[in-house]
Amino acid sequence: MDYAINQAGNTTVSALLDAVGASAEGLKAVWLSYPTAAFVPAAQFADELEVAEGTECLRTYGEGDCMADALYKVIGELRMATECTCTFGHEGGYQLHTIMGDACTKKGKPSDIALMRDLAPVMEKQAICGEGRAIGRVTIQALDLFAAEIEPHFAKRQCPTGGCEAFKTYHVLVSKCTGCGKCLKACDDGAILGKPKFVHVINQKKCTQCNQCLEACPEGAIVRAGAKKPKTPPKPIPVRRK
Ligand code: SF4
Ligand code: SF4
Repeated sequence: MDYAINQAGNTTVSALLDAVGASAEGLKAVWLSYPTAAFVPAAQFADELEVAEGTECLRTYGEGDCMADALYKVIGELRMATECTCTFGHEGGYQLHTIMGDACTKKGKPSDIALMRDLAPVMEKQAICGEGRAIGRVTIQALDLFAAEIEPHFAKRQCPTGGCEAFKTYHVLVSKCTGCGKCLKACDDGAILGKPKFVHVINQKKCTQCNQCLEACPEGAIVRAGAKKPKTPPKPIPVRRK
Protein backbone atom coordinates (compact mmCIF):
# COMPACT_ATOMS: atom_id res chain seq x y z
CA MET A 1 0.00 0.00 0.00
CA ASP A 2 1.29 3.49 -0.84
CA TYR A 3 1.20 6.39 1.62
CA ALA A 4 2.03 10.00 0.80
CA ILE A 5 4.73 11.44 3.05
CA ASN A 6 6.37 14.84 3.23
CA GLN A 7 8.89 14.42 5.99
CA ALA A 8 12.60 14.82 5.35
CA GLY A 9 15.63 14.50 7.60
CA ASN A 10 16.51 11.99 10.27
CA THR A 11 13.66 9.78 11.40
CA THR A 12 12.62 6.13 11.62
CA VAL A 13 10.24 4.03 9.60
CA SER A 14 8.20 3.50 12.77
CA ALA A 15 7.74 7.28 13.06
CA LEU A 16 6.81 7.56 9.39
CA LEU A 17 4.24 4.79 9.76
CA ASP A 18 2.80 6.53 12.83
CA ALA A 19 2.59 9.80 10.93
CA VAL A 20 0.48 8.25 8.14
CA GLY A 21 -1.64 6.24 10.56
CA ALA A 22 -0.36 2.85 9.37
CA SER A 23 0.41 -0.10 11.60
CA ALA A 24 3.74 -1.92 11.42
CA GLU A 25 2.05 -5.16 12.40
CA GLY A 26 2.37 -7.82 9.72
CA LEU A 27 4.74 -5.73 7.61
CA LYS A 28 7.99 -7.25 6.44
CA ALA A 29 9.42 -4.19 4.70
CA VAL A 30 8.77 -0.74 3.34
CA TRP A 31 10.03 1.17 0.31
CA LEU A 32 10.89 4.85 0.49
CA SER A 33 10.64 6.40 -2.95
CA TYR A 34 13.32 8.36 -4.83
CA PRO A 35 15.40 10.30 -3.95
CA THR A 36 15.73 8.27 -0.74
CA ALA A 37 15.21 5.12 -2.82
CA ALA A 38 15.61 2.43 -0.20
CA PHE A 39 14.00 -0.76 1.03
CA VAL A 40 13.86 -1.04 4.81
CA PRO A 41 13.16 -4.47 6.37
CA ALA A 42 10.95 -4.72 9.48
CA ALA A 43 13.97 -5.46 11.68
CA GLN A 44 15.23 -1.94 10.93
CA PHE A 45 11.99 0.00 11.41
CA ALA A 46 13.23 1.47 14.69
CA ASP A 47 16.65 2.43 13.31
CA GLU A 48 17.34 6.05 12.45
CA LEU A 49 17.63 6.81 8.74
CA GLU A 50 17.84 9.90 6.62
CA VAL A 51 14.85 10.62 4.40
CA ALA A 52 15.91 12.81 1.47
CA GLU A 53 14.01 15.99 0.65
CA GLY A 54 11.40 15.28 -2.00
CA THR A 55 10.65 11.70 -0.94
CA GLU A 56 6.91 11.49 -1.42
CA CYS A 57 5.91 7.87 -1.01
CA LEU A 58 6.20 5.15 1.60
CA ARG A 59 5.10 1.74 0.31
CA THR A 60 4.38 -1.14 2.67
CA TYR A 61 4.83 -4.86 2.04
CA GLY A 62 2.99 -7.53 4.03
CA GLU A 63 3.75 -11.23 4.32
CA GLY A 64 1.85 -12.10 1.11
CA ASP A 65 3.75 -9.58 -1.00
CA CYS A 66 6.70 -10.77 -3.06
CA MET A 67 9.91 -8.78 -2.86
CA ALA A 68 10.99 -9.92 -6.34
CA ASP A 69 7.82 -8.32 -7.69
CA ALA A 70 8.49 -5.31 -5.45
CA LEU A 71 11.98 -4.88 -6.93
CA TYR A 72 10.64 -5.31 -10.49
CA LYS A 73 8.08 -2.54 -9.94
CA VAL A 74 10.55 -0.20 -8.23
CA ILE A 75 13.07 -0.55 -11.07
CA GLY A 76 10.26 0.16 -13.54
CA GLU A 77 9.21 3.29 -11.67
CA LEU A 78 12.78 4.59 -11.45
CA ARG A 79 13.26 4.01 -15.18
CA MET A 80 10.05 5.91 -15.94
CA ALA A 81 11.17 8.82 -13.77
CA THR A 82 14.29 9.62 -15.78
CA GLU A 83 14.85 10.67 -19.36
CA CYS A 84 18.54 9.89 -19.09
CA THR A 85 19.85 7.80 -21.96
CA CYS A 86 23.33 7.01 -20.67
CA THR A 87 24.49 3.43 -21.18
CA PHE A 88 24.54 2.41 -17.54
CA GLY A 89 21.41 4.20 -16.43
CA HIS A 90 19.20 3.52 -19.44
CA GLU A 91 20.51 0.24 -20.82
CA GLY A 92 21.44 -1.13 -17.41
CA GLY A 93 18.01 -0.27 -16.08
CA TYR A 94 16.41 -1.96 -19.06
CA GLN A 95 18.44 -5.11 -18.47
CA LEU A 96 17.65 -5.30 -14.76
CA HIS A 97 13.96 -4.60 -15.35
CA THR A 98 13.78 -7.29 -18.03
CA ILE A 99 15.57 -9.82 -15.83
CA MET A 100 13.25 -9.16 -12.88
CA GLY A 101 10.21 -9.23 -15.17
CA ASP A 102 11.29 -12.66 -16.40
CA ALA A 103 11.82 -13.85 -12.84
CA CYS A 104 8.30 -12.81 -11.86
CA THR A 105 6.75 -14.61 -14.82
CA LYS A 106 8.42 -18.01 -14.43
CA LYS A 107 11.20 -17.29 -16.93
CA GLY A 108 14.06 -16.63 -14.53
CA LYS A 109 17.43 -18.34 -15.12
CA PRO A 110 19.98 -19.21 -12.38
CA SER A 111 22.70 -17.30 -14.25
CA ASP A 112 20.64 -14.08 -14.08
CA ILE A 113 21.48 -13.54 -10.41
CA ALA A 114 25.20 -13.32 -11.19
CA LEU A 115 24.44 -11.00 -14.10
CA MET A 116 22.48 -8.67 -11.81
CA ARG A 117 25.21 -8.75 -9.20
CA ASP A 118 27.76 -7.80 -11.85
CA LEU A 119 25.68 -5.07 -13.45
CA ALA A 120 24.08 -3.35 -10.44
CA PRO A 121 27.31 -2.14 -8.73
CA VAL A 122 28.56 -0.72 -12.03
CA MET A 123 25.27 1.12 -12.50
CA GLU A 124 25.47 2.45 -8.97
CA LYS A 125 28.85 4.02 -9.77
CA GLN A 126 28.66 4.85 -13.47
CA ALA A 127 25.09 5.89 -14.25
CA ILE A 128 24.86 9.62 -14.94
CA CYS A 129 21.38 10.21 -13.51
CA GLY A 130 20.44 9.74 -9.87
CA GLU A 131 17.63 7.37 -10.78
CA GLY A 132 20.05 5.13 -12.69
CA ARG A 133 22.43 5.00 -9.74
CA ALA A 134 19.45 4.30 -7.47
CA ILE A 135 18.42 1.33 -9.63
CA GLY A 136 21.87 -0.18 -9.12
CA ARG A 137 21.86 0.55 -5.40
CA VAL A 138 18.39 -0.81 -4.62
CA THR A 139 18.96 -3.90 -6.73
CA ILE A 140 22.01 -4.80 -4.66
CA GLN A 141 20.10 -3.95 -1.49
CA ALA A 142 17.08 -6.10 -2.41
CA LEU A 143 19.24 -9.05 -3.51
CA ASP A 144 21.02 -8.94 -0.14
CA LEU A 145 18.00 -8.29 2.08
CA PHE A 146 15.49 -10.56 0.39
CA ALA A 147 17.67 -13.32 -1.09
CA ALA A 148 15.46 -16.07 0.35
CA GLU A 149 12.49 -14.67 -1.55
CA ILE A 150 14.15 -13.49 -4.74
CA GLU A 151 16.66 -16.23 -5.55
CA PRO A 152 14.12 -19.12 -5.85
CA HIS A 153 12.52 -17.22 -8.75
CA PHE A 154 15.78 -17.79 -10.64
CA ALA A 155 17.08 -21.03 -9.16
CA LYS A 156 13.82 -23.00 -9.08
CA ARG A 157 11.25 -20.83 -10.86
CA GLN A 158 9.33 -20.61 -7.62
CA CYS A 159 7.76 -17.70 -5.76
CA PRO A 160 8.00 -18.53 -2.03
CA THR A 161 5.36 -16.01 -0.98
CA GLY A 162 3.02 -16.74 -3.88
CA GLY A 163 2.75 -12.99 -4.34
CA CYS A 164 3.69 -12.95 -8.04
CA GLU A 165 0.59 -13.10 -10.22
CA ALA A 166 2.16 -15.59 -12.64
CA PHE A 167 2.77 -18.08 -9.85
CA LYS A 168 -0.79 -18.07 -8.56
CA THR A 169 -2.78 -21.28 -8.96
CA TYR A 170 -6.50 -21.93 -9.43
CA HIS A 171 -8.48 -24.31 -7.21
CA VAL A 172 -12.06 -25.54 -6.88
CA LEU A 173 -13.36 -25.47 -3.31
CA VAL A 174 -15.04 -28.74 -2.33
CA SER A 175 -17.33 -26.88 0.06
CA LYS A 176 -18.83 -24.72 -2.69
CA CYS A 177 -18.76 -26.70 -5.95
CA THR A 178 -22.15 -28.01 -7.17
CA GLY A 179 -20.72 -29.91 -10.13
CA CYS A 180 -22.59 -27.74 -12.66
CA GLY A 181 -19.82 -28.01 -15.27
CA LYS A 182 -19.78 -24.34 -16.30
CA CYS A 183 -16.07 -24.00 -15.54
CA LEU A 184 -15.23 -27.07 -17.59
CA LYS A 185 -17.05 -25.60 -20.60
CA ALA A 186 -15.30 -22.25 -20.11
CA CYS A 187 -11.78 -23.72 -20.03
CA ASP A 188 -10.22 -23.71 -23.50
CA ASP A 189 -7.08 -25.41 -22.26
CA GLY A 190 -8.58 -28.69 -21.10
CA ALA A 191 -7.29 -28.02 -17.62
CA ILE A 192 -10.48 -28.93 -15.75
CA LEU A 193 -11.62 -32.44 -14.93
CA GLY A 194 -15.17 -33.23 -13.86
CA LYS A 195 -18.61 -34.56 -14.64
CA PRO A 196 -22.13 -33.60 -13.49
CA LYS A 197 -22.58 -33.61 -9.72
CA PHE A 198 -18.86 -34.12 -9.15
CA VAL A 199 -16.52 -31.56 -7.61
CA HIS A 200 -14.35 -30.36 -10.49
CA VAL A 201 -10.57 -30.38 -10.29
CA ILE A 202 -7.99 -28.15 -11.97
CA ASN A 203 -4.85 -29.60 -13.52
CA GLN A 204 -2.18 -27.01 -12.65
CA LYS A 205 0.16 -28.25 -15.36
CA LYS A 206 -2.38 -27.44 -18.06
CA CYS A 207 -3.78 -24.25 -16.52
CA THR A 208 -2.74 -21.08 -18.33
CA GLN A 209 -4.26 -18.76 -15.68
CA CYS A 210 -6.72 -17.25 -18.16
CA ASN A 211 -9.32 -16.62 -15.44
CA GLN A 212 -12.24 -17.89 -17.58
CA CYS A 213 -13.32 -20.53 -15.07
CA LEU A 214 -13.29 -18.06 -12.21
CA GLU A 215 -15.60 -15.77 -14.14
CA ALA A 216 -17.85 -18.63 -15.27
CA CYS A 217 -18.44 -20.23 -11.87
CA PRO A 218 -21.81 -19.09 -10.47
CA GLU A 219 -20.97 -20.36 -6.99
CA GLY A 220 -17.72 -18.55 -6.30
CA ALA A 221 -16.19 -22.00 -5.91
CA ILE A 222 -12.96 -21.23 -7.76
CA VAL A 223 -10.19 -19.35 -6.00
CA ARG A 224 -6.72 -18.16 -6.92
CA ALA A 225 -4.06 -19.02 -4.37
CA GLY A 226 -0.56 -17.87 -3.56
CA ALA A 227 1.72 -19.71 -1.16
CA LYS A 228 -1.18 -21.12 0.89
CA LYS A 229 -3.18 -23.54 -1.24
CA PRO A 230 -6.62 -24.84 -0.27
CA LYS A 231 -6.89 -28.59 0.18
CA THR A 232 -8.48 -30.10 -2.92
CA PRO A 233 -8.95 -33.70 -4.10
CA PRO A 234 -6.57 -35.04 -6.78
CA LYS A 235 -9.53 -36.13 -8.93
CA PRO A 236 -13.26 -35.33 -9.10
CA ILE A 237 -15.32 -36.59 -6.18
CA PRO A 238 -19.12 -36.57 -5.65
CA VAL A 239 -20.35 -33.13 -4.58
CA ARG A 240 -20.74 -32.68 -0.87
CA ARG A 241 -22.75 -29.52 -0.95
CA LYS A 242 -26.47 -30.05 -0.23
S1 SF4 B 1 -7.70 -20.36 -15.34
FE1 SF4 B 1 -8.17 -20.74 -17.50
S2 SF4 B 1 -6.79 -22.43 -18.09
FE2 SF4 B 1 -6.84 -22.38 -15.84
S3 SF4 B 1 -8.42 -23.84 -15.31
FE3 SF4 B 1 -9.38 -21.81 -15.36
S4 SF4 B 1 -10.21 -21.67 -17.46
FE4 SF4 B 1 -8.72 -23.35 -17.45
S1 SF4 C 1 -16.33 -25.00 -9.85
FE1 SF4 C 1 -18.13 -23.69 -10.13
S2 SF4 C 1 -18.53 -23.77 -12.34
FE2 SF4 C 1 -17.15 -25.48 -11.87
S3 SF4 C 1 -18.51 -27.22 -11.53
FE3 SF4 C 1 -18.10 -26.30 -9.54
S4 SF4 C 1 -19.78 -24.88 -9.20
FE4 SF4 C 1 -19.80 -25.37 -11.39
